[in-house]
Parts: sequence; structure tokens; C-alpha cells
Amino acid sequence: MSDDEKDTLIRQLAKILEHEREDKARKNRNYQTWYDKQQRGSTEHDGYFHNPERKKAICQRNILANLELKKEAIQQYGPSCACCGETRIEFLTFDHLGDARQLLGHIKWGPQRFLRDLKSRGWPSGIRVLCANCHIARNGGRTCPHL
Ligand SMILES: [Zn+2]
Ligand SMILES: [Zn+2]
Repeated sequence: MSDDEKDTLIRQLAKILEHEREDKARKNRNYQTWYDKQQRGSTEHDGYFHNPERKKAICQRNILANLELKKEAIQQYGPSCACCGETRIEFLTFDHLGDARQLLGHIKWGPQRFLRDLKSRGWPSGIRVLCANCHIARNGGRTCPHL
């Protein structure tokens, strides 16, 4: 290999390395810009992360949606506690009759998932409304003191 050829090779290598460095730096800058935007809750990306206002709004929307769903379910299965007649929605819960829990496959489900499931199945039978007091008192097949 002549000295000239060596020189050319070294220059080419230097160019490639320089290019790689620039590429990395650019990617880094892009990431930093993106990250900063998220931190600020920029509207450009809809402020997906770290935006307390957005979090609050979503939380509020979920609370309202869940309340609507519960109201709907109480219209279907209520309107009041099957034991004591309690009608205030805050006190009301849903109870599986007989082996409905097993039949519907509601094993260890949270209340929202359970209500969404009932709605999607067209409100099947086997569910009744009980207030929290009567529900707890009857847990495990015991008798409510109201009786
Ligand atoms: Zn009750
Ligand atoms: Zn009761």
C-alpha cells in the first residue's frame, strides 16, 4: 500500500467516524427535545406524561363514567337494597345470587370490570342490589340482622 493510498484510507475512516459521532449527537438532541416537551406537558404531544391537569381530567372523567355505569346497573337490578330498602347510590353494592359468581366467571374482579361485563352481556340475572351494611352482614351466607 502506497503512502497516498494510506492517507486516503485514513481520511475516509476519519470521515466515517465523524459522521457516526454527529449521528449519535443528533439522536441524543432529538431525545432531549422530546423528553423536555413531555416534562413541560407540551400540547404538541398532548402532554402525555407528567401533566397533572391531564391526569386530573382523566381521573374526573373516569369517576363520572363509573358513576353513570353504577346508576345504569342500579336501574337494572335495584332500585334499592333488597334487604333494607336503602336507595342512596353511595351505599349500594351488587351481590351475586346463588352460584351466579361462578356461572358468570366473576372471580376476584374489581367493581368496574364486573359492571362493564354485566352491561356487555345485557344485564344477566343472578345479581341483586344490597347496601354495603346488608352485604357485609350477609357475607358467607350469614343472615342480616335486619331479618
Ligand atoms: Zn341494606
Ligand atoms: Zn339488611
